[in-house]
Order: sequence, then C-alpha cells, then structure tokens
Amino acid sequence: MNSKFLNIDLHMHSTASDGMLSPTELVNLCSENKVQVMALTDHDTTEGLDEAKVAAEEKGIQLIAGVEFSASWENKVLHIIGLNLDTENSNLIDALNALKQQRLNRAERIAKKLEGAGIPNALEGAKKYANGGLIARPHFAQFLIAEGHVKTAQDAFKKYLAHNKKAYVSTEWPTMEAVLNTIKDAEGVAVLAHPLRYKFTASWKRRLFSSFKEAGGQGMEVVCGYYTPTEIEMSIGYALKYDLMGSVGSDYHGYSKHSSHPGIFPPLPTSITPIWSLLPV
Ligand code: AMP
Ligand code: MN
Ligand code: MN
Ligand code: MN
Repeated sequence: MNSKFLNIDLHMHSTASDGMLSPTELVNLCSENKVQVMALTDHDTTEGLDEAKVAAEEKGIQLIAGVEFSASWENKVLHIIGLNLDTENSNLIDALNALKQQRLNRAERIAKKLEGAGIPNALEGAKKYANGGLIARPHFAQFLIAEGHVKTAQDAFKKYLAHNKKAYVSTEWPTMEAVLNTIKDAEGVAVLAHPLRYKFTASWKRRLFSSFKEAGGQGMEVVCGYYTPTEIEMSIGYALKYDLMGSVGSDYHGYSKHSSHPGIFPPLPTSITPIWSLLPV
C-alpha cells in the first residue's frame, strides 16, 4: 500500500470496552468513511479483535490489533496505546487478565460508594451496560442516566465518577514502564494517547514526554478527532522536541452524533514521521 495517501485511524473503541458500536458495526462505519487502515484500541482488552478481523476482511480494510492500556505514572493515570500487538503473547494475556480483575474490583468499590450516596444496584447496572465486555466508568454513567440520577454522561462524571467526586475510586494501574514492557514483549509499538488531555502543567508535560521516550515509548498522538488546530500544532511541537513519531486517531466511542468520527480529522503534517512507518501498512 502507498502509505502516503492512507486514510488511517489508529484509535477507536467498540462494545468490547466503552464504545457504543459492536466491532462489526465499527468496521462498517470505517468502511463508509473510506478508512483504509484502522486500529481497534479498546481499553485494556483485545476481546473485540476477532470479530473486527472478520468484518475488516470483508470490507477490505487493514485491521491493526491494538489496546489502549490504563497506566500509572507519578500517581497519575495515563493512556498508552499498543499497536500491532501479538495477541497470543503470554505476558500480554496475563497483563490483560490482571487488568480485567482490577477493573472488576474497582467496579465493586465504585458501586459501594454509590450505594453510600443512596444509589443501590450500580454494579449490576454497570454490568448490564458492559454487556459481558470490560467494565468502564461510562457504563456506570449509562446506569446513572437510565435511573434518572443525572441527565448526561458529563454530569455523571462531574457529580460521581471523575477524580475526587463522590464515587471516585483510585486504582493502581500498572506503571508506565510495565505497560511499555508488555507492549514491547508483544512486539507492538507504543503511543502516548491524547497527550494534551492530562491535566498537567507545562513542566509536568515535559517530564512525562521525556520519561515516556526514555522508557521506550515510540510515538505520540498528535492528530485527534477532538483536537483544535492549535492543539495539533502544540502536540507536533512536543513530539518533535522529544523525538517521538506522530500518530493519528479519532478516539471514536459513538456516544453522540457530534463527537469525532472514524477517519475524520486533518492529515498528519509532513514535518513529522508517521508512526505507521513502524507498522506493516
Ligand atoms: P475508565 O477507563 O473506566 O476509567 O473510564 C475512562 C473513560 O471514561 C474514558 O476513556 C472516556 O471514554 C470516559 N470519560 C472520561 N471522562 C469523561 C467525562 N468527563 N465525560 C464523559 N466521559 C468521560
Ligand atoms: Mn473510553
Ligand atoms: Mn483515552
Ligand atoms: Mn480512547
């Protein structure tokens, strides 16, 4: 494939984590949007990939096996995307199993806190929306909306689920270094997701980007569905400064018509090396 003219999207979610579309529906939407290469990057799971693979083959789309890992760094939560992973790798499988258990434990603790706030049955509620997939906070948000406690997911986070709110539970995700090792061991490529979304000061950002690079990180998401042109420019500046390659992704979840869509974002500026120079595209 001529990678120069690719319509490529390396960050999106399905019902295997907190997305609204099944892997097949997501692939079909990518096809409608003329996406040629897509990475399915569900939070902490590869469980949507088998279904996505079948659908992608049918639509002539190249599927990259991805995961958006939850990670801890300096007591903060980071998201690190692993791309082109060997999904049979035993360390990867162990790491994902541990994350699944950790998420279940966290969900139980979130539900207890909600119960303390007068909202019973939240664990069953969140599980219903997770529908057998991994449990994430947006599933609690869906439950809180359905029960009439809040009007929007934004409100559910603001009132209950976000950092330091009524039902927030802090979790010790694997360290950034551990996640980078897991990705490396599974022969994947590591990308720091949405680098400007962490509520860090400029000096914390500089520390993060240099530690990420030093620990073996290879890329940074510099074009994102919801980035403004200024944010794209800032991210490119950081990526160039810390010698990280550029990645692009919609971070599509399918929550609303107004959110970003697969494959719909500005092209990667030519000033930066695309992360897909390390991928078999
Ligand atoms: P978790 O990984 O279970 O902690 O859930 C994190 C996910 O919640 C993110 O990937 C987003 O999809 C979603 N999220 C985070 N903050 C908000 C917010 N303020 N409003 C709506 N969704 C959010
Ligand atoms: Mn999410
Ligand atoms: Mn994320
Ligand atoms: Mn994401």
